[in-house]
Parts: sequence; C-alpha cells; structure tokens
Amino acid sequence: MLVPLRRCLIAIVLACLPAPLAFGQEAAVAAPAPESATTAATVAADAPVRTDVTTADFVRVVDQVAEFAARHTAAGVLLVVDIDNTLLAMNQHLGSDQWFTWQDGLLKSDPDSPHLVAEDFPGLLEVQGTLFALSGMHPPEPDLPEHIKAIQDIGVTTVVLTSRSDDFRNAAQRELARNGYDFAKSALRIDERRGLFLPFDPALPDAHGLSADIIETIKDRLSPVSYSGGIYMTAGQHKGHMLQTLLARAIPDDGARHESRTFRAVVFVDDHQKHTQRVHDALADSPMDLATIRYSREDGNVAAFEASDKRQEVNGWRRLQRAIDTVLMQ
Ligand SMILES: [Mg+2]
Repeated sequence: MLVPLRRCLIAIVLACLPAPLAFGQEAAVAAPAPESATTAATVAADAPVRTDVTTADFVRVVDQVAEFAARHTAAGVLLVVDIDNTLLAMNQHLGSDQWFTWQDGLLKSDPDSPHLVAEDFPGLLEVQGTLFALSGMHPPEPDLPEHIKAIQDIGVTTVVLTSRSDDFRNAAQRELARNGYDFAKSALRIDERRGLFLPFDPALPDAHGLSADIIETIKDRLSPVSYSGGIYMTAGQHKGHMLQTLLARAIPDDGARHESRTFRAVVFVDDHQKHTQRVHDALADSPMDLATIRYSREDGNVAAFEASDKRQEVNGWRRLQRAIDTVLMQ
C-alpha cells in the first residue's frame, strides 16, 4: 500500500511544481497573466454591493435580506424600513402621507385656499396629530407583518426610520402593534439617553457619524429625534444622514461601544425615491453592502388621490372638526 500512496504523493508534488522550461523560454512571460486575472476577480469580490430597485412586492425585500445574510450571516445585516405607505397605509386618504403632502403644498402655493385645514405648518401638524390619533392603518400587503417577522426570526437587526416626529410616537406604536409588528425584539441598541435628543452637535463634527461638510448642509433643519423600541423618529430630517447618526451610536449586546462597520450590509426600504436616493448617497463610501428599495405598492392609491378633486377629504375634515368642536371642550 505504501508504494502506490508514495507514487500518488509524488505525482501531486510534481503537478504543483512549475513545468520545466523549454530552451529559450522566459519564465517571466507566462506568469503575470493568471495573477492579473486573480487580482481583478479579488477587487470585484471586495467592492461593496450597490443595489437600487423599485418593487411593489415586499418579498423582494425578504430575498435581498436573505442574499446579504447568506453572504455576511444574519447578524451582519441591518434592515431599515419606513412607516407611511411602506409598513402601514392609512385606511382613508384623510390624514395619509399623500394628503399631508397635498396640504403642505397648498400652504406654500395657495395659502388662502378654502381647502386648507390650517393656516400654517404647525397648525397642519396639529391636525395631522388628531388624524393619526383617530385613524386606523393597514399593511399595504396583508402578509407584510409576516415577512418582517420571518426576517427578524433569522436574527437580522431591524430599525423603523420615519420622518414623523416624536409627537406622533404613540399613534405609530399603536398601529404597528395592532397590525402585528414588533420592532422592539430585534432593535438596534444604541448608546444614547432615552427620550428626545439632538441627532448631531454642529459644534462637534464627526462625533455622531457626520462630517463638518455634511453638518453645514443640514444644520439649519436640526430638530430633536427619538429612538425607542426600534423606532427612530426623525422629524423630517435627511434620512441618509439620520441613519448615519444612528449607526454611529450603535452598541452590541454586551454593552461595549463599537462602530457601524460591525454591520456588513444594509437594506433600506421606503416608498419615496427622495429617501432611497438620500440613503444611497449618504452611504456611498461605506464599506457595507447596500440595497435601497423603493416600495411602490401604494403608488396607485397615491396617484388616484392626486388626480381626484379631494372633495371627500375636504368635507370629511369639516364634518370631523364640527364633531370635535361640538362634543369636546376646547
Ligand atoms: Mg413613507
């Protein structure tokens, strides 16, 4: 038995040795080609993934998370997802994202319009708060909460990132829970005090993930944010930069500080192109893989509202306001 084994080993060793040179052949000529090919392949494999897609099917998000988890393990993946017209949609147009956008536009373009529910932006926010408190919401796809749960069950960290301010936290948490979502159980842990806090300090560049140049472009809109139960409420600020400020505060379960590089991949889902683009731009130089997914399931409802005369919503708010004024002490 030893002889055949030995012959076999010799054959392997010989196969690993460079082939004997023919007379006049130069060794250096042939060698670089395969090395160059290997180098090119290595560079391509190391470059972070950048994916930007639009889909009306949340299962595309599930597939993307699974793809990144297969590459980096589930613990290396962060899913970031919007609320309005993504996790939840209003049961009627009144109080919806598209209704708020219409009212906000009217305030700027036609401030004397009889269709306005308030005289100014703070007044509009107050009405929005009333409607959030009273309205029910539903997932754009019935099985969307199950998709989220499946993602959480494999060990992926999740964050809800909304432009709503903390004033609307109670209503958001109520409707998320009523529809079967639980983001507390898979939340990103951060090193920050509870309640409201400023996402960055203009006097301390790089302290919370943002350079002085970026801070210069967004500091005029600086507003308090809150993060609790996996829900990050950012009060209309730049979602890409708000995500950076959250990642800069991330801590692992053992409580020791560590950097966002611990995550190897981010999947960001939002119904607005503006936000997917901003996240794409903000993380452009990140070593993490990134998939930004514009979720378009509610596009038809939004377009139908925009094309309508809005009479139903105008009359609906007037009836509701009369009822509130009549029944409740002001
Ligand atoms: Mg939205």
